[in-house]
Amino acid sequence: MTLSAKSLVPPAAPSRTVQCYHCGRHCAVSVHAMSSSCSQCYRQLAIADIVVRSRHWGSRLQTCGKILLDRKADVRVNLLTAGGGVEVHGSLRGKIVSFGPVTLGEAARIDGDLEAPAIYVSPGATILGGTFSIVPVPKLEQAAAKVT
Ligand SMILES: [Zn+2]
Repeated sequence: MTLSAKSLVPPAAPSRTVQCYHCGRHCAVSVHAMSSSCSQCYRQLAIADIVVRSRHWGSRLQTCGKILLDRKADVRVNLLTAGGGVEVHGSLRGKIVSFGPVTLGEAARIDGDLEAPAIYVSPGATILGGTFSIVPVPKLEQAAAKVT
């Protein structure tokens, strides 16, 4: 059996495109990665989804995946950034920047500015304050084409 040059090339790891929450540009990451670095700005990126089930007070909560706050979550952060969207069923105080839709469940209680392409508010959700901006997100295909 002859070894062709082609067989020496390792198969490309399956990847997906995420939007970097530092620079806002898109980069490809392995689907298996829990964290990665942005190919555009080289900063560290959390990839995995985050589920908060208790008190979380800190400066930032950020991932390229989704962030889910369950009913017992009590989150106070300066900035919460999610690439894949945010689902809130608990309490959240802080600014939300999401590249995916934000869903406020019937037990949600939020206080802070919010930027997202779409917001779904269930009856019963409490919104105490903040400025909401519904902003479209850049198309994923543009940056994906540049990634090799
Ligand atoms: Zn970046």
